[in-house]
Order: sequence, then structure tokens, then C-alpha cells
Amino acid sequence: MPEVNIFEEANRQLIICNACRYCEGYCPVFRAIEIRRDFSQGDVFYLSNLCHDCRACYYACMFTPPHEFAINIPKILAEARIETYQRWSWPGFLARAFKKRGITVGLAFVAAAIVIGLSLLLIPESSLFTIHLAPGAFYEVVPYVAMVIGGLILFFYALAVWMRGGARFWSETRSALREPGGFKALISSLTAALGLRYLQGGGPGCFYPDERPSSVRRIYHSLTSWGLLSDFVATTLAFIYQDFFHRLPPYPLMSAPVIFGTVGGVALIVGTSGLIWFKLRSDREPESSRAVGMDYVFLVTLGLTALTGMLTLIFRTTAAMGSMLILHLALIAALFITAPYGKFVHFVYRSLALLRYEVEQRQPQKHVGH
Ligand code: SF4
Ligand code: SF4
Repeated sequence: MPEVNIFEEANRQLIICNACRYCEGYCPVFRAIEIRRDFSQGDVFYLSNLCHDCRACYYACMFTPPHEFAINIPKILAEARIETYQRWSWPGFLARAFKKRGITVGLAFVAAAIVIGLSLLLIPESSLFTIHLAPGAFYEVVPYVAMVIGGLILFFYALAVWMRGGARFWSETRSALREPGGFKALISSLTAALGLRYLQGGGPGCFYPDERPSSVRRIYHSLTSWGLLSDFVATTLAFIYQDFFHRLPPYPLMSAPVIFGTVGGVALIVGTSGLIWFKLRSDREPESSRAVGMDYVFLVTLGLTALTGMLTLIFRTTAAMGSMLILHLALIAALFITAPYGKFVHFVYRSLALLRYEVEQRQPQKHVGH
């Protein structure tokens, strides 16, 4: 659907919702709708990133197809979200990945193939398939400098694209409301994002994968988010151990980096598998087919990255450690290169949408017209 049609269609549906207001208790989207009389393109982009796709409004609505109003809020907001992802990403030819799954898959394969190819070319067989037990064992296979430089380049590239997109989100979704912001709004939006406060469909849980509400999607989503955070903590601790205390990996099983890494790895494997399983069984009516493809690429890459990380830990005292490590690094490269062009971006825009929502809710002026 071309961008202008998505915007116009979302606008049409939101105006009907604003007259109906049956779903106002379900989520922040409907409370944000209430303080608007009409919807600019920026409003639609903001609301689309505020929607958590819980589908409560779809199953509650008496105007869904075949009714002539043809209301399907989760689907149209998902379509609008994809538009925002592409619109705010960079460079343009890679941003098309949000609509063409082949580009994302191709990017992931190229990144992984480069890592595996270079490893096979540069690492001697005697080192790759040998048991390494001494401190610095991983660096006997892949030099520390190569890991750090490769990781930092990919990380800062993704960060730069996210920050550019975040800045565009903030400027393009600005409403006519005054925006004093404030510390309370920031804290409230952060706790909402980290605690997945609105992934509850108004109370009983997401209506996912079908019309029966349950908390299971929130649990899988929490495992995925907190698993990522736990692995980030593990990597930071390993950096501190190594560069401040001069203790080289591998670390004992009961050390902080390994505990955080293991908890995060298991959480990610369970969380991503659960979300994939839910998506496979999901009701197709309230979903956007383009969003589903992007979700699968992200979840599979993230899940495999966690799995190979765990396998590297399990096999670290065997001759298979080198192969597992290379596979893990290849998947990390695939994850980071696709991070600015896949589902990862929703973390950036949803957090900002929640911040805008919290700011809006603290405004003295309660209605916005354009
Ligand atoms: S989704 Fe349907 S029931 Fe809910 S507010 Fe909109 S029109 Fe009303
Ligand atoms: S799908 Fe859920 S989060 Fe999205 S608008 Fe409907 S009720 Fe709100």
C-alpha cells in the first residue's frame, strides 16, 4: 500500500475510533486519540509506534470487516509503523529492507559469510580445531583486537542510524501541545518500556495468537528484552574483568559474567522461540504480512545468536570451541548489521513514543487540532 493511502486509511479509522471510544481503556493509543480532533501524518506515525499490537481493540470492535467501516486498527498501525521504520532509516537503499525481507536476509548472510570466510582463511587449522584451556583461550582462535574492532564498528554504525531515526521521530511527531517534558515523564516512560506496562490489552493480557487473552506473549517478550539486557551486562562485566582487573576469559561458571551470560542466553532462547511459535499460530487478519517477515528474521537471528553463545560456553573445554565461537561471532555480525533495518528499531521508536505519551499526558492543554 503506498504511503499516502496508509496515512489516509489510518486517519479514516482513527476518526471513527475517536467518535466511538469504546476501546479507550485498552491502551495509550486511545487515550492519545482522545486529545486530538484530527490526525496529522506525524500523529499517525506517533500512534503507530505507540501501539503494542495487543489486538484487544480488534477483537472488541463491532466495526471490523465485513462491516462497511472496515476497522482494523492493529493492522493499519502496523502498516504505518513499517512506513516510519523505512522513512527514518538510512541509507535509503538499505532502508528498503523493511519492506523487502530479501535485503535483510541478504545482509545477514553476507555479514555472517564474511566472518566465517575470513576465519577459515586467516585462522590456522591447528588453532581452530584444538582444545584451548589457558586464560585468553578465545583469543587463541580469534585475536582480541579483531573481535573488538569488528564489534565496535558494527555497534556504532547501528547506534548512529538509530539516533538519526530517533531524532527524526521526535521532530516529525511533534504535536501542537506544549512540551515541557520533565523527569517524571522520562522515568514513567522508561518503566513502561522496561516493564512492558502496556502489553496487557487493558488488563487480561494480549489477545495473541487468537481472541483469547493471556499473559504469555508478555512473558516471552519480557524474556527476550531482559535476556538481551542480561547479556549486555555480561559483556560489560567481562570487559571490566579483563581490562581493569587483568583477568582473561574464559571465566569460571560461577563468575558474574558467566552467570549473567547464561541467564540472558537461556532467556533469549526461550523468549524468541516462544514469540516465533506464537507468530506461526497467529490470527492473520489483524496483522501486516510485511511486519511478520521482519519479525521472523529478527527473532531467528537473535535466537540463533543466543544458542551459539550457549554452545560456545558448553563446548569451551573441547576442540569444538573454535567452531562454535566463529559461528557465534558470525551471527553477532548478522544481528548487528541488520539491527538498523529490522525489528530492533521498534525499541527505539516505541520508547520515544512512550516518552511523548507521558509528556502529552502531563500537558495542561487537553485538545489538539491541526
Ligand atoms: S476499534 Fe472499533 S470499537 Fe474500538 S474504538 Fe475503534 S471503532 Fe470503536
Ligand atoms: S492493538 Fe492493542 S495497543 Fe494497539 S491500538 Fe489496539 S488496543 Fe491499543
